[in-house]
Amino acid sequence: MRDRYLAGHLSLLAFALTGAAWAAAICGCASAGSSRAPADEPLEVIDAHVHTNFDNKFYNVGKVMHSKEELVAEMKRNHVVGAVSMNHAGDAYADLSDLNIINCAGLAATVDVAGLEDGLASRRYRCIKIYLGYVHQYAFDRNYEPAYELAEKYHVPVVFHTGDTDSRQAMLKYADPLTVDEVAVSHPKVTFVLAHAGNPWIESAAEVAYKNPNVFLDGSAFVIGDLKQTPPEQIETYLVKPVRWIFDYVGDPTKLMFGTDWPLTDIGPYLEAFRRAIPREHWKAVFHDNAARVYGLDKPTRGQGAPR
Ligand SMILES: [Zn+2]
Repeated sequence: MRDRYLAGHLSLLAFALTGAAWAAAICGCASAGSSRAPADEPLEVIDAHVHTNFDNKFYNVGKVMHSKEELVAEMKRNHVVGAVSMNHAGDAYADLSDLNIINCAGLAATVDVAGLEDGLASRRYRCIKIYLGYVHQYAFDRNYEPAYELAEKYHVPVVFHTGDTDSRQAMLKYADPLTVDEVAVSHPKVTFVLAHAGNPWIESAAEVAYKNPNVFLDGSAFVIGDLKQTPPEQIETYLVKPVRWIFDYVGDPTKLMFGTDWPLTDIGPYLEAFRRAIPREHWKAVFHDNAARVYGLDKPTRGQGAPR
């Protein structure tokens, strides 16, 4: 995976939140609003950020097997009813419609316009992924214009990697979520997603999503690795609190989507922590409905490909 948040960077991160912001964030965690206990009816989940270029090897970072069988098992265990796969440029295409998983076409610096249009028209690709930072181009670079035009034509969202990278060849200035604002304004009919909510630049990402009706966030990879072995205070500091702050700041429960970045971390423990960040009455939106709507997964897709 190239678009992930390094566990080794954890100690380097600091969130410049005021005491008042933390107080507001903490108040937002109350579980008031719904009388239904989780055990009554399992929460159906869509994981808005996974990687499915399976190599059938044990993935040392997330401590999981990167195999289709493992993903199926993990989805079943956690009531994950669909997912969005983030492909890189050149990744082989895998039809995972039997799992209700859709694929994003990963772009290189220069867009293969004909190939991208073919993939979108055939619905092999239901979204577009741009790797800001890894590719040394801003979101507003003219090279990406054809992709935005095709996104509008085929009604698919464009996902940007934003925030920390795991490559020393990457350049962070391109992955600053603030740089997406210009594109969001220039293309008001295109839906954009800031992957990783710009972490650790969550304030910029939250503001861009708050200000632009066409910008959404996925909260994947705030902490990666084996969360069962991660000190709970680290999960609280680097996952639960920042996600809670983002949700509260944006002030619109339709804007944030749950995602993991599997196999960089296992779905179950990440889901458990993420739930603690979101008020109970908004679980259905954040863990399912927002991704279903943004990615068009709200139509039946299992085994047949959904018209929209
Ligand atoms: Zn990823």
